[in-house]
Amino acid sequence: MTERATPAAIKKASAILRRGGVVAFPTETVYGLGADGLDPAACARVFEMKGRPRFDPLILHESSPARARRLFARVPAAARRLMDAFWPGPLTIVLPKAARVPDIVTAGLKTVAVRVPANAQARALIKAAGRPVAAPSANRFGRLSPTTAAHVKKQLGGAPDMILDGGKTSVGVESTIVTFSGGRPVLLRPGGLPLEEIERLCGPAVPAAKAGKKPLAPGCLKKHYAPGARLKLVDRGAKVKTGRAFAYLAFDRKPAGKFAATAVLSQTGDLREAAANLFGALHRLELSGARVIYAERVPPHGLGRAIMDRLRRAAA
Ligand code: AMP
Ligand code: MG
Repeated sequence: MTERATPAAIKKASAILRRGGVVAFPTETVYGLGADGLDPAACARVFEMKGRPRFDPLILHESSPARARRLFARVPAAARRLMDAFWPGPLTIVLPKAARVPDIVTAGLKTVAVRVPANAQARALIKAAGRPVAAPSANRFGRLSPTTAAHVKKQLGGAPDMILDGGKTSVGVESTIVTFSGGRPVLLRPGGLPLEEIERLCGPAVPAAKAGKKPLAPGCLKKHYAPGARLKLVDRGAKVKTGRAFAYLAFDRKPAGKFAATAVLSQTGDLREAAANLFGALHRLELSGARVIYAERVPPHGLGRAIMDRLRRAAA
């Protein structure tokens, strides 16, 4: 069932997690499908609910930076700088794992992905559960990430033991994922924290390919974040087809012409606002029944990098 994320509901949800249950909960990025991150059977239920074809590594969420650091075997100085600056926040750090992190969480890798969410309800839930919470996005495999409790309900129905409703998520795209190679940051996935902010503290990032880091599923699968309709990337002002079979996702200005539905990500051209609205807009355009959704390219800096990454995958 869905419950508003009141202190009482959060307490109930934390008890479900401690019993090995699965709870969908809000974070500032997207809704997560959470389970006890130290309980392999509970984590397995998460994969099952998402309909994931295989075990991909999960992100462990902690309630404080100090607790999060204990999930790593060691923390290089550059990583420590990022933790101090950006946790809690939409930044996931990948480092060698502590022995107690189960293999199902890391899909057999020797490294683990960890983050401290900024959303206060998420942190209260994790703190009350008293253990790290493993949580991928609360959507069916390969479908759009949920930014509201209603999105979760639409895709997963009654499968989670509980859905905590904390309203619309504020950042709206998944976390930025970084690791380190020779003291330099390596970007594994663009996301809610702009790469520029990481580079300001740690110097220029090494491209993942150069660092010998294979892109890892699922966030890194070529096709992902897919709406039910076909998505086509277009430049603003490009000639597109109109009519009931077409929907249009604009960056900052409503397009001319008749469409099944249109959405504008940010009237003021603000990339942060655009990211927060991205998945909600795609969900709405998908519901219009259009066969094709045109999506305008956005400026590829700051959060625009994460938006373009998601749009490219949805179009693949
Ligand atoms: P999500 O399902 O949105 O939570 O995405 C989790 C992402 O974290 C995936 O795209 C993985 O590629 C990434 N990830 C998790 N653990 C690791 C790890 N140990 N090394 C590299 N990437 C990881
Ligand atoms: Mg996901």
